[in-house]
Amino acid sequence: MPSLPVLVLNSGSSSIKFSAYEAGAGEPEKLFEGAVDGIGTDLGKFWIKDASGRKLADQNPALPNRAVAFQLVEGAVHSGDFPAPAAIGHRMVCGGPTVLENQLITPDLIDEMERYTAFAPLHTPIAVYIMRQALHLFPGAPNFVCLDSYFHRTIPEVVSYMPIPEEYSAMGVRRFGAHGISYESIVYQLQPQVPGKLIVAHLGNGASISAIRGGRCLDTSMGLTPTGGLVSGTRTGDIDPGVLLFILHKIAETTTNATEAANALETVVSKQSGLLGVSGLSNDMRDLREAIAQGNPKARLAVDKFVWTIQKWIGGFVAELDGLDMLVFTGGIGENDIDSRAEICAGLGALGIEIDRERNNVRGAATVSADTSRVTVRVIPPAEDLMIVNHVVRLLGE
Ligand code: AMP
Repeated sequence: MPSLPVLVLNSGSSSIKFSAYEAGAGEPEKLFEGAVDGIGTDLGKFWIKDASGRKLADQNPALPNRAVAFQLVEGAVHSGDFPAPAAIGHRMVCGGPTVLENQLITPDLIDEMERYTAFAPLHTPIAVYIMRQALHLFPGAPNFVCLDSYFHRTIPEVVSYMPIPEEYSAMGVRRFGAHGISYESIVYQLQPQVPGKLIVAHLGNGASISAIRGGRCLDTSMGLTPTGGLVSGTRTGDIDPGVLLFILHKIAETTTNATEAANALETVVSKQSGLLGVSGLSNDMRDLREAIAQGNPKARLAVDKFVWTIQKWIGGFVAELDGLDMLVFTGGIGENDIDSRAEICAGLGALGIEIDRERNNVRGAATVSADTSRVTVRVIPPAEDLMIVNHVVRLLGE
């Protein structure tokens, strides 16, 4: 196979991550990676590193909007320092009920996915913007969408169906899950010996957990949107719907405009809750650990709540899987927060999960379970961009 430079574009609510790989025969090789972070602020961050980790750019530009942010990405890709992309892969959290397969992006497909912005309200607007820009600015390269929801397409109907009136289900409301490309990448890295009964906890600023049987997703914590499931950095996770109604009634005391009220509720549940909401301090686990060390009770409560929810999900998943062979931690917290791993596993001895304190004292890939643990506990960093490149190469060959 001739060499094939593939560009990967992965946008978050206020960031664009990008990387390029040389695909061809064998495992794709990374050429460079970078990010533009802090969109909507005067002091953003823009960096690029080459394959050896050498910084090629490290700036703090003003990033008033996503257009300015994407210009930086496009400028870097077109700088002449790297081969022009032969194909582009885009991460998309959820394309709605009609777009369930990874596929070639056309203007019509973007319009179709945009109709379901409410299913990933923080992610879809910037993702579709970047897709439209990429079709325009890289006209020679086919663009492909890679969906987080793709990995979760195997969950059974009893898990995905929501207990709501049929008219809303008919509009596509159901559990789609998220972080699917990360989960896929963990299963990929475990090959050829993927454990039959596997739980993967993707604990980052957004947090979710999945039960995986025979390499296929059986259940996942996020729901219609990434706001459901576990307590996350700034999101509630699953919550009594009565709480949402209470907050909505409170908001309705200040506005009669229904869209304004819905947007205000969205801000509360997606941007002001979770670790940030409970601690009143920060959504960043590093800040919370520092505050806990200084005796801050709200920071302690926020982290306890986070840990407790994860333990409950693990318990439920072990019942669903009828046992457990391996528990994997991934994501920024899963990989780096030694205390979170220890605290989560400390309550799970009855499920055969025992962590070894010394082995757990690491950041990055490791096996951290005790020799006596029935369940193997591992830390595996995700390889989302590599998965996207693999999908792009497969789709190009079809
Ligand atoms: P992610 O969304 O996967 O990039 O994860 C981001 C989160 O990982 C941050 O908000 C931190 O809470 C957490 N994190 C990153 N590095 C560390 C670290 N060294 N110790 C504890 N938590 C960390």
